[in-house]
Amino acid sequence: MKNRNTLKRRNFLKLSLTAAFGGMAGKLVGNNWMQTAGPVAQGIANKVGTFPRSKLGYSQREVSVIIGAGDMSSNLVEAGVQCGMNYWHKANRWMNFGAPDIILKNREAHYCQVTVDRVGSSHYSGRFDEDEHVRYVKEAVKKTGLGYFDDMQLHFGYHNTEEVKQNKAFVRAFERLKKQGLVKHLCLSQHSYAGSSRVENGQSDAKVLKAIVDDGLYEHAQFMYSYPGDPEMDEFIAYAKKKNFGTIAMKTARGIGRMNRDSDFMDKLPQGTSPYNAMTRWLTTETSLTAAVIRVRNMEEFEETYSGAGKKLRDQDLQAMAIMSAEADRTACRMCGKCQPGCPQQIPIADILRFERYAMDDNDWNKARKLYASLPTKGNVCVGCENCVSACPLELNIPGKVSRVHAMLG
Ligand code: SF4
Ligand code: SF4
Repeated sequence: MKNRNTLKRRNFLKLSLTAAFGGMAGKLVGNNWMQTAGPVAQGIANKVGTFPRSKLGYSQREVSVIIGAGDMSSNLVEAGVQCGMNYWHKANRWMNFGAPDIILKNREAHYCQVTVDRVGSSHYSGRFDEDEHVRYVKEAVKKTGLGYFDDMQLHFGYHNTEEVKQNKAFVRAFERLKKQGLVKHLCLSQHSYAGSSRVENGQSDAKVLKAIVDDGLYEHAQFMYSYPGDPEMDEFIAYAKKKNFGTIAMKTARGIGRMNRDSDFMDKLPQGTSPYNAMTRWLTTETSLTAAVIRVRNMEEFEETYSGAGKKLRDQDLQAMAIMSAEADRTACRMCGKCQPGCPQQIPIADILRFERYAMDDNDWNKARKLYASLPTKGNVCVGCENCVSACPLELNIPGKVSRVHAMLG
């Protein structure tokens, strides 16, 4: 019954927004959207309210607890700005059309991050190349029109702690760009490479991140983190906080897309709660994180999700979180990589289950299929030995999952 009420509310919201956007979709591109989408974005922002801020890393810059991303649609960017969103991850995605006017007009009020990949094929086999990183950032500065980036982020991070110590090409590129006033702070997004067959001596994200904090060159990091927390990453977050190192969670909505489509599951949640909203409350009030990236795809998700930012968990949210955590622990990978080292077939299990999330939770099937096609070893070579299952803290049915994902995406 309560789910039917939620669906009714959602359908109403969807219809209202569709009507409001009717006929203008073609104009909502490039940087001319301010004049057209303004009232709708403002209306949603009024319902959501202002995001609290927290202090990021050694610079103690005040950033919104929910950060934005360069791949958000322009109406979502505008609504975000109205709510006080002031940090933009992957701002180099604005290279095609230029940064949104709402940011360019008030450039100093925003922190914009350029995300830089290794050069060459991928984050596994790609290389650091000081000159190429410098060239890319300069091109991004020019094409976005931003004038400079506040943060330069190494995408996908280091393979192991030895690489952090030995390979300083990315840091040197940053120093050169900093001298020219084109970047200000250094940061990274870190994945786990523990047990990966595609890198030598790959280590977990927690291990590499601790080395990054101790190295002292980077100001903050993004990493995968989701409810109900993870003991290893919780320890790292506490350590980072003591050292004034900023922490930003990504890939936060583990399994929630699937939950939202499952009406039987949604019927189990207490009235007035929703998975996105409860998770946002938890991330922004119950953890020691500096901020979080929580992906939303439309205004309806914006309102439902972000209206939880900075708000305490109510009793009913706690109940919802317990139900969601049990469901996610039964169905959705945490991407900790613990299953990886024992796989005799060297199947990239955590990658495969990340692509499953892109498809099943984000509904981004093209991206999931493309990434799956790029894997050198796929789920179809699983021999069912179950080494992975005994290593997995959630005891997920990994052989069943990798073969299902192969059927879906292969
Ligand atoms: S069951 Fe399959 S995925 Fe798991 S360790 Fe064995 S071969 Fe690898
Ligand atoms: S399948 Fe289990 S062990 Fe492997 S990455 Fe996911 S949660 Fe970790």
